[in-house]
Amino acid sequence: MNFNIKNKLLLAVVLSSIVSLASCHSDTDVKVKTISTADLEAAVLTKYPPLDIEMVAKKLTEHAYQIQGKAGIATDNGGFISNAGFVITDAGVVVIDSLGSPPLAVEMLKRIRKITDKPIKKVIITHYHADHLYGAQVFKEIGAEIIAPIGSYKYINAESAPARLAERRESLKPWVNEQTYIVKPDVIIDKTTEFELGGQQFVINVVGAAHSDGDLTLLAKEDGVLFSGDIIFGGRVPFIGGGSTSKWVETLTGMESGLKLNLLVPGHGDASGDPAAAIKLTKSYLQYMREVMGNAVEEMMEFVEAYEDTDWSNFENLPAFSSVNRLNANTVFLSLEEESVE
Ligand SMILES: [Zn+2]
Repeated sequence: MNFNIKNKLLLAVVLSSIVSLASCHSDTDVKVKTISTADLEAAVLTKYPPLDIEMVAKKLTEHAYQIQGKAGIATDNGGFISNAGFVITDAGVVVIDSLGSPPLAVEMLKRIRKITDKPIKKVIITHYHADHLYGAQVFKEIGAEIIAPIGSYKYINAESAPARLAERRESLKPWVNEQTYIVKPDVIIDKTTEFELGGQQFVINVVGAAHSDGDLTLLAKEDGVLFSGDIIFGGRVPFIGGGSTSKWVETLTGMESGLKLNLLVPGHGDASGDPAAAIKLTKSYLQYMREVMGNAVEEMMEFVEAYEDTDWSNFENLPAFSSVNRLNANTVFLSLEEESVE
């Protein structure tokens, strides 16, 4: 008899004796220690490195709140550069995006707990980019359902995924560390989906690969608040993450006509009571980028030359211009070059 088979037999004997022992007892004799959500929350509060950061849960409407990230590049302010939000219902809380590290998500959870003790039911990840995603494990660990758009697995399974996480473990040390992992969604949404929680209606609108490999927006219907993710950047130059800029422009054009909102919460920057204006900045930037880089590709210019020749004056005074514009231009140049040979 080999060792493995022997072990399996032993295990079977032990298991069957446990089963027979258990069946001798009535239900009242079996004490099962259940771990409450409160226990789980207490555990996550001390599990991660503490992060001393100024963070405010700003009330937007009756039920909706925004956690606003600070302007800066990915590694500034402990990675606190993106927006998140939450909507409180009678049956629990819907969270939108999870910030850029577990300690940031813990800070967010603490802010939520100052306002409500309702359970965190769902976390809607607008798209799989580190700054919106790396906090998700905290909510997962306290029992929330993680919901993400189709396309997320392209990010999760990318060949570069381990290197990307390793880079963040360095650049966002100690907040992104060996404990940090990429949470897999519990639910993937591939088409427009409505759900109800605690008497409130929510609409998840699947955008597709626009800013990223897969984007979605969440509308909290009762309050008329749209959480747009990085489809819209408020008051700053957007980051073009590698989706499709033509699809992105198309999406924004569709949103311009159909939106009746009280507030639009972008993925970065201020919430806006004027959705059309918020859409316009991101859209005009993308259109301009496609136009100038498209011309350069058509004229078979080198990227460096095309970039130097372009008039950036409409955008160069906006926040984030210096950190992302050249990279964006290069991304669009390469994608249009690829399109032109297809
Ligand atoms: Zn993004």
